[in-house]
Amino acid sequence: MQLTVQANENATNLIFVASECAPWSKTGGLGDVVGSLPKALVSRGHRVMVVAPRYMDYPEALDTGTRMTYEVFGQQHEVGYFHAFIDNVDYVFVDHSCFHAVADSIYSGDRQSLNFRCALLCKAALEAAWHIGPGGYPYGDNNTVFVANDWQTSLLPVYLNAFYRDHGKMLGARSLLVLHNLAFQGRGPFDEVHNLEIPPHYLDHFMLDDPIGGECMNMLKAGLLEAHRWVAVSNGYAWEIQTDMGGKGLAPVLQSQQWKMNGVVNGIDYIEWSPERDTFLQSDGYTTYGFDRDGILTGKAQCKAALQKQLGLPVRPDVPLFGFIGRLDSQKGVDMIFDSQGWLMNQDVQLVLLGSGDSELENRMRDIENNHGDKCKAWVGFSVEMAHRINAACDILLMPSRFEPCGLNQMYAQRYGTVPVVHAVGGLRETVESFNPWESTGTGWVFEPCETNRLIDTMNDAIVTYRDHRETFIGIQLRGMERDFSWGAAAKYYEDIIVQAKHDDF
Ligand code: ADP
Repeated sequence: MQLTVQANENATNLIFVASECAPWSKTGGLGDVVGSLPKALVSRGHRVMVVAPRYMDYPEALDTGTRMTYEVFGQQHEVGYFHAFIDNVDYVFVDHSCFHAVADSIYSGDRQSLNFRCALLCKAALEAAWHIGPGGYPYGDNNTVFVANDWQTSLLPVYLNAFYRDHGKMLGARSLLVLHNLAFQGRGPFDEVHNLEIPPHYLDHFMLDDPIGGECMNMLKAGLLEAHRWVAVSNGYAWEIQTDMGGKGLAPVLQSQQWKMNGVVNGIDYIEWSPERDTFLQSDGYTTYGFDRDGILTGKAQCKAALQKQLGLPVRPDVPLFGFIGRLDSQKGVDMIFDSQGWLMNQDVQLVLLGSGDSELENRMRDIENNHGDKCKAWVGFSVEMAHRINAACDILLMPSRFEPCGLNQMYAQRYGTVPVVHAVGGLRETVESFNPWESTGTGWVFEPCETNRLIDTMNDAIVTYRDHRETFIGIQLRGMERDFSWGAAAKYYEDIIVQAKHDDF
């Protein structure tokens, strides 16, 4: 494809490095963001490469023939590089048997094998632009900003400094570290740091002594200290993680270099999540309903009927259909939905759940279907298609997350005319405007504190509004559909942070 570059005096060569990238690999929001933000930055005139593992054969990515050897865990390992140039983004997939082995579950295996994969990915990513012929003009070293994502690639800023910049190479390169979820930090016994080929004077960056883990290795901490700038995926999250409660042991580190912190609310991919073009819905004869009232009454109603039929629920247009999509983890508050089933399943409602993760929560999900199969269907597993169908078909989406760095489903839901019910936290607070019946404003219901009784009260408000005040409910749907969640504004904020990083002189 021809590379067209928008004139932009801030145009920068950006190299995103991440353990997942949709549509090739995804377990959550990280994959979605890495699959969509690069395209938005390309359209602003930046040159963008994404480097991710080659977990399996991706037909569109071709073998470049390049083989490089890197030292990881004390031994030499050869990697290959596969490449695809799509939508003017260079996608580079690092090929090694350790990635193929976890194709079905990309974070599986013991801690050491996961750390190995992370270290190998970071090493291979730092040199990717040197060794492969990109889809457009070469990247060079001096106008380059690496964008690392979460703890899995937080070794990258360390390696960039320790192995290159300290030795006079890539002196013009800078690094950003994007914080999608601080709950995972790459912790382990401190001795394990010796597998990571860290020069002695960087070792103390990896040491964290806190009440959660005692004296331990913390890979995210080292990445934070070495990165030039940080981006948290919402303003609320940028604040929360600097508090003792939200920082999960890293608050003092974040506070000590507070000037690096930026909050940018994620956008969503308007091509993939498009009510007019969604290919996962077209088999229902559904093509478009547009952003209007008639569409809600026609296209969305068709999706609802199709999902009810597919899952074996009574096909009833008038019953409020609730949905939940997410990782089954205490973070997501799905246990509060289970705890409220005595009340919820006594109402005239239907409920569809999609999720996988914690085995106890998976069992509770199966139980609720077993107990209330005429009203509730639970899909234990990971299905992008089902996520699209639920977002399109439901009337109300539940996201009672205890914490939520940004959250994407509440934005997808609003785009499809599905009204979110969310706990007032992190990015949920910034992306769902609470319904105000007196002023006829708002795009969903936002509750606090995060307790089952409050969730029940709020679900009750949603049911009553749906049942007895349908025009009001449609107004909430329409306002949600009209909100702009595209990457446009967020990509501009990223650009501003990138420019700041380029001026950092350390
Ligand atoms: P997190 O990154 O914490 O998991 P987000 O809301 O940021 O949460 O992103 C979750 C993404 O993963 C969304 O695209 C959502 O649709 C998707 N997802 C989560 N669970 C599933 C599942 N079981 N099947 C399909 N998609 C899922």
